[in-house]
Amino acid sequence: MRIRREDVEHVREHSRIDEVVGEHVALRSAGVGSLKGLCPFHDEKTPSFHVRPQVGLWHCFGCGEGGDVISFVQKVDHLDFPEAVERLASRLGYQVHFEDDDGRAANARRDGIGQRQRLVEAHRVAAQFYAEQLASAPDALAGRTFLTERGFDRDAAEHFGVGFAPRSGEAMLRHLRGRGFTEDDLVASGLAGRGQRGLYDRFRGRLVWPIRDVAGDVVGFGARRLFDDDRIEAKYLNTPDTAIYKKSQVLYGVDLAKRAIARDRQVVVVEGYTDVMACHLSGVETAVASCGTAFGADHVRIVRRLMGDDRSLTSGQGGPQIGGQVIFTFDGDQAGQRAALKAFEEDQRFVAQTYVAVAADGMDPCELRQQRGDEAVRELVAGREPLFEFAIRSALAQFDLDAAEGRVAALRFTAPMVAKIRDTALRPEYARRLAGWLGMEVEAVGRAVRSAGRGDRGPGPRHDGSGFPAPDPRDPVARVERGVLQCLLQLPHLVPAEVDALDESAFEVPAYRAVHLAVRSAGGVAAALRLGPHGWLEAVREEAPATVGPLVTELAVSPLPTVAGDEALTRYATDLVLRLAEVDVSRAISTLRSRVQRLRPDDAGYGEAFAELIAAENRRRSLRERITG
Ligand SMILES: [Zn+2]
Repeated sequence: MRIRREDVEHVREHSRIDEVVGEHVALRSAGVGSLKGLCPFHDEKTPSFHVRPQVGLWHCFGCGEGGDVISFVQKVDHLDFPEAVERLASRLGYQVHFEDDDGRAANARRDGIGQRQRLVEAHRVAAQFYAEQLASAPDALAGRTFLTERGFDRDAAEHFGVGFAPRSGEAMLRHLRGRGFTEDDLVASGLAGRGQRGLYDRFRGRLVWPIRDVAGDVVGFGARRLFDDDRIEAKYLNTPDTAIYKKSQVLYGVDLAKRAIARDRQVVVVEGYTDVMACHLSGVETAVASCGTAFGADHVRIVRRLMGDDRSLTSGQGGPQIGGQVIFTFDGDQAGQRAALKAFEEDQRFVAQTYVAVAADGMDPCELRQQRGDEAVRELVAGREPLFEFAIRSALAQFDLDAAEGRVAALRFTAPMVAKIRDTALRPEYARRLAGWLGMEVEAVGRAVRSAGRGDRGPGPRHDGSGFPAPDPRDPVARVERGVLQCLLQLPHLVPAEVDALDESAFEVPAYRAVHLAVRSAGGVAAALRLGPHGWLEAVREEAPATVGPLVTELAVSPLPTVAGDEALTRYATDLVLRLAEVDVSRAISTLRSRVQRLRPDDAGYGEAFAELIAAENRRRSLRERITG
C-alpha cells in the first residue's frame, strides 16, 4: 500500500522547502537563489548545508547528504516516506489518499501508514479536552489553585494550553474513543497506560502541559502531581518515548520561542514548565526547557541550528561571545555546578557561548516573577556570567583557599580546566582571572595552565562518496567545468547555445564528465527549457549513474557567486562556457599542431590537418574576444 503518486507530487511541489527546513535550521542568503545554515545531520561550526528553494532541493557539502523536501522531513523527523509525505500534507491542509499496488483506493487506518498523523491528532484532541477540563471541571480546582498561587491567570493558562487530566482516568479515554481512536492508538500515543483492569489515562489527576514540536504539533505532555493520593510518587511525569516523542529532542516552549531565538540569537534554558511560562510572560521570549531529562547533546544541536550559530558571522574580536548565546538558569546548587563542569567535556564551541544566570537567593524564574515581578526575571537573564567563569569558580569553592595547600590543590584542579578552553585567545584571560581568584602570581598560574594543556586534534579528513577521485578545488580548469555544470543545472535558460557544441572530451575531471554526459543524455538545454526546473533535475538524475546522483544534487544546489539579475548571470554563464570551449579548442589545437609538425607538406592529410588547425585557431581567437572577464 502506498500514497497515490499524484498526491506525492502535489505535496512535493507545494511544500516550500525553505519554510520546512527553516523550522529546524536558521537559513541565510548564500548567493543567487540559495540559502544556507548549519547542517542538522552532522555536527559543524560553519554552515555547509544549502537549500535552493527554486528547485526544491537541499544538499550538505559537509556530510554529503541531500535530496528534496520529503527526504529532508524523513531524515530530520526520523519518519518513513509515507509518514513524511503525510506530515507535509497536513502542513498544507491537503488530504493524501492511499492505494494498493493495483492502484485501488485503500484504507490506511489499519496499517502503520498514517500513524504519525493519527498520533498527532490524538494529542491535539487530548490537549483540547484537558484544557477544557482545567477551565471548568470541579475536580480541577486543585490545578487552578496551583497556577494562581504561582502567578498564572486564566489567560496565561490558555496561552500555554495548560490542562487538567481528570482523576477518574477514564474520561479522556472515553473522549478519544468517541472520536474513533482505537486502543492501539491510545497505547501507541503514550496517552494511555495499560493496567490490570485495562487502559487508564497516564496523567490522571495531574496538571498537564502540552509539549509541542518545533512545528507546533502537540507530541506529548508533562504532568505535575497535585493530589496526595496520587498512586505515582514522581512530582513530574512525561510522555514515554513514542513514534512522535523523543525526550532527548523535545524542548518545552520551542514552538513559541523559535522566532525570538532566531531573531535574538539567544536561548534561555530553564528547568521547568512554569519557568518557561514565567519567562515568556516576563518578556524573555527565548526560554525553553528540556522535558524529564537533562539538556543534552541533541538539545544543543537543536538550539544551535535555531540560532543559526555560525562562526562566519562573528566580529572576530576574540571575546567569548561568538555566534548566539545560550543562557542556563542553573540553580546555584551541586547539580547545577556538576552540569557546568560536565559542559567542559561537551562541544567547546558551544561552551564558549554559554552563560549561566543564577539568582542571588537561588530562586527559579517562576519564583522570581511571583515575588519580584517581570523586571526581576529580565534582570536575572541580563546578569548572566560566562560558563567558564561559573564553572571555575564553582570548582574553586570546593577548596580551602585560605590555606597554601588548598590553593595549590585548587590550582592543580582548575589549571586543566583553563587549558581545555579551546579558544586559545581566551586562555590567557582566564589564567589571569584564575590567578586573581587564587591570589597567586599570574606567571605561576600561566605556567600551570600551559603544562596542563597538551594535544589538540585537528579536523578529520574529508571524503567523497561518488566513486570518482575528488576534483581539486584549486585547479582552474576543474573550477570552470564545475561552474558550467552548475549553470546547466541551475540556469539552463541563461546558458548560451555554444554549450551544445561541447562533447565528452570537453570535461577533464571524470566526475564532471559523467555529470555532463547525463546532461546530454537528458536532452541538454532544449530539454531543460521544456521540462522546467524540477523535471530537468529529475531527468538528469535519472540519466546519471547512481554514484553520481549526489554530485548532481550538489551542483544543482551549490551557490553561484552573488551576481544579481539575469543579465549578470547570463554574462557569468556565457563566460564560463566560452572558457571551457577555449580550453577544449586549445587541447584540439595542440593535438593538430603536433600532427602538422610530424607531417611533411606533401604527405597525405597534411592539407586537411593544416586547414583544421587554422580553423581551430580562428575559433579560439573568436572565443577569446568574447570572454569579458
Ligand atoms: Zn551535513
